Amino acid sequence: MHVLILGGAGEARELARRLSGRPGLRVTLSLAGRTRAPEIPDAAARVGVRVGGFGGADGLADWLRAHAVAVLVDATHPFARRISGNAVRAAAAVAIPLVVLERPPWQAVPGDRWTRVPDMAAAAAALGDAPRRVFLAIGRQEVSAFRAASHHHYLVRSIEPVAPADLPPRAETLLARGPFAEADERALLAARGVEVVVAKNSGGDATYGKIAAARHLGLPVVLVDRPTRPEAAATVEAALARLDHVAGSADRGV
Ligand code: NAP
Repeated sequence: MHVLILGGAGEARELARRLSGRPGLRVTLSLAGRTRAPEIPDAAARVGVRVGGFGGADGLADWLRAHAVAVLVDATHPFARRISGNAVRAAAAVAIPLVVLERPPWQAVPGDRWTRVPDMAAAAAALGDAPRRVFLAIGRQEVSAFRAASHHHYLVRSIEPVAPADLPPRAETLLARGPFAEADERALLAARGVEVVVAKNSGGDATYGKIAAARHLGLPVVLVDRPTRPEAAATVEAALARLDHVAGSADRGV
């Protein structure tokens, strides 16, 4: 039985690793190819890896048919909306089960000073009229939204460089790949004189350090909410249980 895992988050690699040793199961992990040196499961895990887009929902459906995929797993990042929509449409078109794995969002705890916003444009507006020193920890793809709030000074952190045309005029860039420890984040925020943090509510441990650091330093956080998908499994364990269930059904032809 062939399982295709749409990856891009740490949980996808973990799920692929956990499934790889199972007899009768062939596992392929699909990556978008956004980062030049993606973290892939080591060869010993016996996971096939493919890189690059499929060409929309139709292209994905074609791939599923051509490679006789029996179960599709969407373990992409919670903010990767397009591929998740494509996964829903492609699985329906090919009539195979779709298992969604999405870690839960962070919840505020006492001491957090969060302003929750629906998107990046709202995040830029929420920074206000007075110039501030902003830590932009949102990846590189939506940085251009902050050109609308060009009176702030930005420290922009991303894995791959931001396209120069996307940067607001007063921006410094920092290339780094998580996970980021709270102590390091605290040191960074203090050293750069950051006054407000902008982040996506990605959930998970790998990037929570900046949220904890902001709380510790008493700094406000503008936090972009994600579209909720109540049908998603929240942990690798829960996704494995769903896979066992749907794989069993697919095996019996039900
Ligand atoms: P997106 O907007 O949902 O997807 C854009 C296009 O990239 C998709 O239409 C698809 O191209 C291709 N794609 C995305 N994920 C893919 C995968 N796993 N395998 C093959 N093709 C894929 O996604 P995004 O926000 O640009 O994110 C790209 C990747 O980075 C995702 O895999 C995501 O999990 C990961 N990531 C995203 C974020 C974030 O904040 N958005 C953060 C960390 C990691 P086609 O239509 O041609 O198939």
